[in-house]
Amino acid sequence: MIEQQIKAAIRDIPDFPKPGIIFKDITPILKDPVLCENINSAFTEKVKDMGIDAVAGVESRGFLFGLSLATKLGVPFIPVRKAGKLPYSVNQKVYELEYGTATIEIHTDAFQKGDRILIHDDLLATGGTVTATSELIKEMGGEVAGFSFVVGLSFLKGREKIEPISDDIIILAD
Ligand code: AMP
Repeated sequence: MIEQQIKAAIRDIPDFPKPGIIFKDITPILKDPVLCENINSAFTEKVKDMGIDAVAGVESRGFLFGLSLATKLGVPFIPVRKAGKLPYSVNQKVYELEYGTATIEIHTDAFQKGDRILIHDDLLATGGTVTATSELIKEMGGEVAGFSFVVGLSFLKGREKIEPISDDIIILAD
């Protein structure tokens, strides 16, 4: 039900941001408050018994449902940002892209050692970004409780990449 609603709302934009990529545009979901509420409820129902201490959302579209999920669970939200965006002291992780590298950062005081953290993003593609996020969280003393995504691009095999980190993987529309 929720899967069909999400798939019907998502808009495919060919050749964005570069030729050969089909960009999954989730902005039509954001125009539908009933669907947003259904997504929030579906995530909350699936993760409520996982013992989550905080939700880490990956810049930038991981902030959208990540914050509402954290709020519904009554736990802190952790913004995971690209280098140079967070104002306080940070821990960072450099990771490989297809061409070159990228850096993500988390505030040094974002969570307590031993906290069980759910990593959230709008979309699972190759899994590179959330894998780097999980490594940074572990380096900072946190535990990865699981992953949640609104959409998965199963042909890119992101699930296989993150399964060794945690088999608690929630993808509402895969
Ligand atoms: P990855 O690290 O390959 O799993 O890429 C995940 C990140 O890139 C997520 O934050 C997505 O929002 C974004 N992304 C990757 N591929 C797409 C796509 N085809 N459509 C929309 N967003 C994408």
